[in-house]
Amino acid sequence: MNGYELRYSFCKSEHAKSISRITSNLFSSNMTDKSQTAEKFDLIIAGAGAAGLSLLWNLISSDKLSNLNILLTDLSFTPKNDKTWCFWDDANLPETGMIHHSWKDLEVRAMNREIREQLQRYEYFCVKSSDFTEMILNRAKNDPRVTLIETKINGFRSTDQGAMMETDSGDFHANTIFQSVLKPPVTPHTRSDISLKQHFMGWEIETSKSLFDPKRAIFMDFDVPQNSGVTFFYVLPFSINRALIEYTMFNEVLLTAEEYETELIRYIELRYGLDKNSYRITRREDGVIPMEDRRYPARLCQNVYNIGTMGGVTKPSSGYAFTRILKHSKEIAIAVENGSPIPESLASSYRFRVYDMMLLYLLKHDPAISVQIFHDLFYKNGFDRILHFLEEKTHFGQELKIFSSVPYSPFFKSIWKMKHRIFSGA
Ligand SMILES: Cc1cc2nc3c(=O)[nH]c(=O)nc-3n(C[C@H](O)[C@H](O)[C@H](O)COP(=O)(O)OP(=O)(O)OC[C@H]3O[C@@H](n4cnc5c(N)ncnc54)[C@H](O)[C@@H]3O)c2cc1C
Repeated sequence: MNGYELRYSFCKSEHAKSISRITSNLFSSNMTDKSQTAEKFDLIIAGAGAAGLSLLWNLISSDKLSNLNILLTDLSFTPKNDKTWCFWDDANLPETGMIHHSWKDLEVRAMNREIREQLQRYEYFCVKSSDFTEMILNRAKNDPRVTLIETKINGFRSTDQGAMMETDSGDFHANTIFQSVLKPPVTPHTRSDISLKQHFMGWEIETSKSLFDPKRAIFMDFDVPQNSGVTFFYVLPFSINRALIEYTMFNEVLLTAEEYETELIRYIELRYGLDKNSYRITRREDGVIPMEDRRYPARLCQNVYNIGTMGGVTKPSSGYAFTRILKHSKEIAIAVENGSPIPESLASSYRFRVYDMMLLYLLKHDPAISVQIFHDLFYKNGFDRILHFLEEKTHFGQELKIFSSVPYSPFFKSIWKMKHRIFSGA
């Protein structure tokens, strides 16, 4: 057993304890244990990605938290332009000035049909991770409540008065820690039956010809070979000659870099008639997003809360996480403000967890029918309604209408296969 596992076993033994004193001791500073020697804060945010930074933003935007002493830690605070976060509900976005581009017109291609629509209720937004990081860090650097430390985080443990974060630069103590860097261990209670990966590689390309319509994004293009699981491309044009083109798969096995690149080259040639020498790659991004039905524990150990991907907020059937992260951060900040219990990270209601499980089952076991389902969803319902559904804002009557537009039998099969989860609380 290595040191990391040892720390986890310590954390696990604390899991069952009540959370009621967590917020009540948020501002207490009477340390009686060995945390006396560590540097102390009211609150530590471990990890400055989407989750850590949006939480920080919400906390420092609150007038009620003028005395809060916050430590933000990450390996590096240098903004990286390595992620493009797209979403359609901007209700919790810290600043609309962060939006890099948006589209009102969306297109889905599936079963040799081009389904195009102008959004009425929503807009499809995109934020560059570098803009988001820079804007929030600039504000944090000028806020006397915030201390920034660049260091490697090695683990966490609970203490009598809060929790300790262990790093390459020493130990730091706080009454409460929010962490987005360590994956909570899988326990019998949190195991998953279906564990897919959404893996992708994208190139931002610049062409000499005017090829793209900057007002219309290709949300999903399934009209590509579907040989190893559900596969699609998306195209986000930023101008008439600049677009992000991303190759995405939902399955269990990652590809080599060359395999993703070969498919990107093939797609750009097929869709836009461009050979490899007719465009310039100006930026690359890749990633793996978990698509699993496991429940993530709200806490890694007592007083250490999981947020972001590590908090399990990713929507299992789509991989979208950004708006859920923003919403969760806002809810946490409100709870801290009010001294009420920190909201659990489980973002979906039972009903939507069941839908996610059904769709996940089909994505894993029947990619062909999954593509037909995506086609029918968008073709027969319209984009706004489906985006509203994916945002989990529809009511049961609307959901029944949506389900009546897709083939029933695969869903009945998935309910049957997942009944042990569905009928035990999902
Ligand atoms: C390329 C990419 C594109 C995505 N696009 C979308 C999208 O369009 N829409 C959407 O809804 N979701 C998207 N997602 C999913 C999700 O929104 C993102 O993964 C999001 O960044 C998750 O936020 P997070 O804070 O949990 O993790 P991260 O943003 O990854 O932040 C984690 C932070 O922890 C730090 N860290 C890690 N380990 C350590 C350590 N040991 N010590 C110190 N610091 C450490 C990292 O440096 C990082 O800053 C995307 C994911 C990826 C990878």
